[in-house]
Amino acid sequence: LEAKEEFSHKTRAMDVMRPRKNDPPLTVITQDSMSVEDVETIVSSTTYSGYPVVVSRTSQRLVGFVLRRDLIISIENARKKQDGIVSTSVICFTDYCPPLPPSSPSVLKLRSILDLSPFTVTDETPMEIVVDIFRKLGLRQCLVTHNGKLLGIITKKDVLKHIAQMANQDPDSILFN
Ligand code: ADP
Repeated sequence: LEAKEEFSHKTRAMDVMRPRKNDPPLTVITQDSMSVEDVETIVSSTTYSGYPVVVSRTSQRLVGFVLRRDLIISIENARKKQDGIVSTSVICFTDYCPPLPPSSPSVLKLRSILDLSPFTVTDETPMEIVVDIFRKLGLRQCLVTHNGKLLGIITKKDVLKHIAQMANQDPDSILFN
């Protein structure tokens, strides 16, 4: 019992977040280098409720969070109503979009659907605190970073599963009083 209790106190954000060790990497969208088609492919090949937006895949610097449903609606509307938006149009989540050659199709600006301050915790944060934050702030998801770089995501369901798991292992844990 003692060992389990100790374990439950030591569970950290990195132990609960996705992706897990052998999972494919987190599905992210870059702030100004993906095309409409790239993003449509991401949305149709995954079912996540949202996607972190990063500066670039190599930097993994977090810029914000975008909801799946907002992406779908915005792209659909733009394709129907906005002149010059085609599959190869670049999607830009920043205020200033990078200059493109004059022959490029119109840029689709999606700054307005980006949540610029999604809740984040570091990978070392004890799950006890993460659970508390989810409860108190009513979060749906929380991003996990290490040294400012995006590592993973924890959703409300991930937290609920974690709570159930801990409760099974150790019903008297202080986490759930
Ligand atoms: P829920 O947890 O409510 O089912 P999602 O469908 O968004 O919500 O997430 C399903 C699982 O995938 C969760 O375990 C979550 O941690 C993970 N996940 C969520 N978003 C992403 C993402 N963009 N890339 C990789 N994994 C994700």
